[in-house]
Amino acid sequence: MKRIVVKLGSSVLTRGTLRLNRQRMLELVQQIAALQERGYEIVVVSSGAQTAGREQLDFPDLGKSVPAKQMLSAVGQSHLMRLYKDLFDIFEVVVAQILLTRDDLSHRTRYLNARDTLRTLIEHRIIPIVNENDTIATDEIRVGDNDNLSAFVASVVDADLLVMLTDQPGIFTDDPRKNPGAALIQNISEISEELFDLAGGAGSDMGTGGMITKLQAARIASRSGIKTIIASGSEDEALIRLVDGEEIGTHIEASAIRSDSRKRWLLTDRTQGLLKVDEGAAKVLMQGGASLLPVGIRVIEGEFERGATLAVVTPDGREIAHGLSNYGSEDLRKLCGKKSGEIAEILGYSFGDAVLHRNNMVVLK
Ligand code: GLU
Repeated sequence: MKRIVVKLGSSVLTRGTLRLNRQRMLELVQQIAALQERGYEIVVVSSGAQTAGREQLDFPDLGKSVPAKQMLSAVGQSHLMRLYKDLFDIFEVVVAQILLTRDDLSHRTRYLNARDTLRTLIEHRIIPIVNENDTIATDEIRVGDNDNLSAFVASVVDADLLVMLTDQPGIFTDDPRKNPGAALIQNISEISEELFDLAGGAGSDMGTGGMITKLQAARIASRSGIKTIIASGSEDEALIRLVDGEEIGTHIEASAIRSDSRKRWLLTDRTQGLLKVDEGAAKVLMQGGASLLPVGIRVIEGEFERGATLAVVTPDGREIAHGLSNYGSEDLRKLCGKKSGEIAEILGYSFGDAVLHRNNMVVLK
């Protein structure tokens, strides 16, 4: 295990207060520097821009409007980075700032650019510190929370491990603040819908993310073949201890074998349309190794071109795959439920038997 993405949430950086806690940040930076010294490659995803902005402006009463938050991020991001720079300087480690939005990860070329930059930084033993580019991110193009962002980043850099440090010891069977009987779940082999129900409402209101976004993030990582650990950032040397294999926090196993970069991109890409397939096709796809043929498709949603990324769902609406479509939506509506041998006859041309070819598809477990 070599490459680790460490997500530091606002509640960890502030120690639950309204200000960034320098001492806490130093402890974390020290652990990251020590791990780097031992040969680990670390990418940090850090929140705290808005918190730093509020602190800089002496806690103005701005309401919750989006431009006000963007202003806080714009003011705070540079202070956040300066703080990291000063702290990492102590250990003679160089840091770099990377600001991303959802769009940067959805467009193939931008995705590749981001990946190349991150990889080059890692190769040069520079620690990238990633945050969302809040100041330009409108709803359509933002990831929205740094939990999901950290999973995308883990997938982009092909990490071995994603660590989300938060203000809770991990995922519990119930909200531990309300139910003293709630127990920490140490191992999760599959992120089920029941888990999402359990996590509903739990978490602090400091960062954007509660436990739900942590589970969403862990699911993306897991599907990309990356293990996730959610643990408390306030535990002494938490990061080093868990990298050394100590059983702290909640461990979420990878559900997929590490797929190639192209397939991982398909996982993170935003889908442009949806194909509902019949039971038979769903079953075959879930077994893996098969392409999706038009005969198994029941419903087509959305308008899209050939080459679009589509989601495949079962008759009861469960998402089971993402893939690149060989046909645009207009063509597909004519092909729906038909045999592959009829494609050329129906359209007057054919891009092949498969709607989603197995080489351009990733099955979600
Ligand atoms: N990007 C936000 C910030 O730095 C944090 C988002 C989050 O915590 O999920 O303030």
